[in-house]
Amino acid sequence: MERRTRVRFAPSPTGPLHMGGVRTALYNYLYAKRNGGDFILRIEDTDSHRFVPGAEEYIIEALRWCGIFPDEGVDADGKVVETPSPRHPHAPYRQSQRKPIYRKYAETLVENGYAYYAFDTPEELEAARAGAEAAKETFIYNQVTRLRMRNSLTLPSDEVERLLEETTAWTIRFKMPEDTVVKMDDLIRGHIEVNTSTLDDKVLWKRADELPTYHLANIVDDHLMEISEVIRGEEWLPSLPLHFMLYKAFGWEDTMPRFAHLSLLLKPVGNGKLSKRDGDKMGFPVFPLKWVNPEGETSRGYREDGYFPEAFVNMLAMLGWNPGDDREMFSLDELVEAFSLDKVQKAGAKFNPEKAKWYNREYLRLKSDEELAELFTPVLEEHGINVVGCPKCALTAGAEFNVAGGDLDKRIFTKEYVRSVIAFTKERATFVSDFWTIASYLFVTPEEFVQKDVDKFWKPENVELVLKVRDFIKEYDGPWTTEAVGTAIEEYIKGNEWPMGKVMNALRLALAGSSSGLGIADIIYHIGKRETVRRVDRAALM
Ligand code: GLU
Repeated sequence: MERRTRVRFAPSPTGPLHMGGVRTALYNYLYAKRNGGDFILRIEDTDSHRFVPGAEEYIIEALRWCGIFPDEGVDADGKVVETPSPRHPHAPYRQSQRKPIYRKYAETLVENGYAYYAFDTPEELEAARAGAEAAKETFIYNQVTRLRMRNSLTLPSDEVERLLEETTAWTIRFKMPEDTVVKMDDLIRGHIEVNTSTLDDKVLWKRADELPTYHLANIVDDHLMEISEVIRGEEWLPSLPLHFMLYKAFGWEDTMPRFAHLSLLLKPVGNGKLSKRDGDKMGFPVFPLKWVNPEGETSRGYREDGYFPEAFVNMLAMLGWNPGDDREMFSLDELVEAFSLDKVQKAGAKFNPEKAKWYNREYLRLKSDEELAELFTPVLEEHGINVVGCPKCALTAGAEFNVAGGDLDKRIFTKEYVRSVIAFTKERATFVSDFWTIASYLFVTPEEFVQKDVDKFWKPENVELVLKVRDFIKEYDGPWTTEAVGTAIEEYIKGNEWPMGKVMNALRLALAGSSSGLGIADIIYHIGKRETVRRVDRAALM
């Protein structure tokens, strides 16, 4: 019988989710949806030393922002799930709340000879490490050294009984079989063989806090939650032989999931894993959302930097996967349609921050002017600008709108004015906040003039001509549209045989504070006749 596809994303809440982690979640989600299965979110928080407050909430919020909603798990449809229900039969999905489940599995392994009790104190382990170091070796608790340590393989059974009763510092360790070749298949990496003599006896369960370690909890939960494929980062590949051995020891080989280890995200230049330091150095985020760590240190996030979640998700999907052709733009639904693990690359994927921006630009262009105007409105409000729905509503605020729908004195603008600004500046923007950088002077009178442009263009002979153009605009009584105003000014300058470039640059400097920027006609149309004249007069006083 075909097995139902059930995959999980199982992060540990040890800090903000790295974009590589989001990619792992995304690939799991795409795989589940492509195969009509379930995507489960499980929180692996059994290592209390590494627990960071706020990290779980961060993970959940980041996935929601990306539009990745688990079918089952700690967060389903935006609700935090803690108790079992028909929809969430395996709840709780937070391992710290599943504590009572694990001990019996660890004990079963001991009973069947696959694991043993270890009583070595931290001091004894430290001494063993120091001893090995002195001999220029590294101490590994393994098939050889375990015979020199204090455990149920070396101590008499009555002593073992006593220590189990009377002490709490003991652990259960996996008894790695000797000189056995573990044969494994990975969906991305193919066939892998590892000899167990290279592996150590990992701790599975700790009496001190009655908690399992990652390895035990991970295998038990994947089994109980009927996981069909484990898709995770390649940093877990070294754990794969142990996981294989654990499935075998439990007798769960028949239902063992298939494994797929994803390659790393690599830094933009040089070699190595993409780290926060690369982001800080080159000016890009490595986290989906802004994160403030418990010490108060802030890391930037894609969301706060103005990326659209669709752009971020599309960009991430393409980092290490390709659809087999040269298509680059995919919505989440289209990714589900196109995704398959056999198109996931084995080699690391180099992150390119420029490509991330490219995606944002593309998605910005796909949005309607109305939608962008809505998104831009809060930015305008931050700069003390009011946007009103209709000219009539503004009358109550005492606004006197120009033809384009702006009152620059009172800083009140109609939605239509904002939309119209968006329409002709869209091609220049990567982020919504860029509209302010590009077009602030269509909302407020610029306070300063760029000095090098003043030196270059604000020459007496040009100023004289600009003042004449001002008079021409003052007298102009043709239709007030960008095209008509633009053509009239151009013809006027041409007709007088004045140097077009010089006059236009000086005029733009007077209107926008800089000689480079938006088209003259667009500026004049939006700010209106009165403000145009005023800005030229003000510049003339320079
Ligand atoms: N808790 C592990 C992590 O933090 C999960 C590894 C796995 O998916 O097996 O990445």
